[in-house]
Amino acid sequence: MGMDIVKMPKLGFGLMRLPEKEGRIDMAHVCNMVDAYMEKEGFHYFDTAYMYHGGKSETAAKEALVKRYPRESFYLATKLPAWEMRGEEDRDRIFEEQLERTGAGFFDFYLLHALEDGSHYDIYEKYHCFQWAMEKKKEGRIRHFGFSYHGTPELLEKVLDEHPEVEFVQIQLNYADWENPAVQSGKLYEILHRRGIPVIVMEPVKGGTLAGMAPELETMLREVRPEASIASWALRFAGSLTGVATVLSGMSSEEQMKDNLDTFTNFQPLTSQEKDVLHRVVERMLDMPLVPCTSCRYCCDGCPRGIRIPEVFKALNTARMYSADDRSRTFYNRLISCSGKASECIACGQCEKVCPQHLPIPELMKEAAEKLG
Ligand code: SF4
Ligand code: SF4
Repeated sequence: MGMDIVKMPKLGFGLMRLPEKEGRIDMAHVCNMVDAYMEKEGFHYFDTAYMYHGGKSETAAKEALVKRYPRESFYLATKLPAWEMRGEEDRDRIFEEQLERTGAGFFDFYLLHALEDGSHYDIYEKYHCFQWAMEKKKEGRIRHFGFSYHGTPELLEKVLDEHPEVEFVQIQLNYADWENPAVQSGKLYEILHRRGIPVIVMEPVKGGTLAGMAPELETMLREVRPEASIASWALRFAGSLTGVATVLSGMSSEEQMKDNLDTFTNFQPLTSQEKDVLHRVVERMLDMPLVPCTSCRYCCDGCPRGIRIPEVFKALNTARMYSADDRSRTFYNRLISCSGKASECIACGQCEKVCPQHLPIPELMKEAAEKLG
């Protein structure tokens, strides 16, 4: 049975950037966010992964959602991590662990996590994960099967040719990356659209980057829609595309939840005038070179120097954009009081290998060390 994307909730709740308090997921806030989301008619898609929050996101889904709502009232999606597997037994063990952590009994959507060029696809093939997922579907433990994707359009075509059983694909898609050669949202979307494969959108706000931008760019948007948040433009862009089943947002606060729910309740697709404005905003952005880190944190755990890489990039971007301003330095000094300094980077390259945005991290660390001192 295929997916009926008309019936899919347009806004999905990504459980990868949950609010934290003293280093732990702040469950009281998460429960409030889940309640606010579930309260609205038609919103019930939750996306987690084995690795999010160091494994605690799946447990948070159990506590805030599975234990508190009837199982048939929501969809739960999670993902299998290639990088944790050394054999088929790991695949089976991880899946059982995920069922245990979430208490969900089955997964409405199950994804092979982060296929990209040169990595992970071979592992999923080697351990027969595609065939295995079909078995799990027969057993009723997976309802819909797909993968999340960070690679080139060419590889995407190849994987889809080899695996017509794939029901949906999750891609990074936002207006700023539509033509970005490292992400190629537009091309990936076109491929899926042409093949009639439902798209689940991740990073619609580019890790929060598109929720706030340089003042002159924000002004361009506010002139058209004074009352709308800057983030709402990014969500409406993704939600306006045909064939998009769900737009995931990794929400971290009740305020964000409210804003996103407002955007998707009585959803208004972008008008052609609004699309033109976004186009001009992107042109201006491209003239402003910022580090396009999405704060996915894939690079963080493995850094031998304990550098909080995405936060360093946040400071670096502020330094690049507002060079006359000392906000970035204040932020950076606070940051390195409890983590590694950019100047301590030993260029081991671990981070670069796992970065889905393909950022030259050691090189950028050098720049950060110079600019932020
Ligand atoms: S290259 Fe630098 S930032 Fe990256 S993991 Fe190694 S030490 Fe950390
Ligand atoms: S540097 Fe790359 S891997 Fe690290 S948080 Fe940013 S986008 Fe993710």
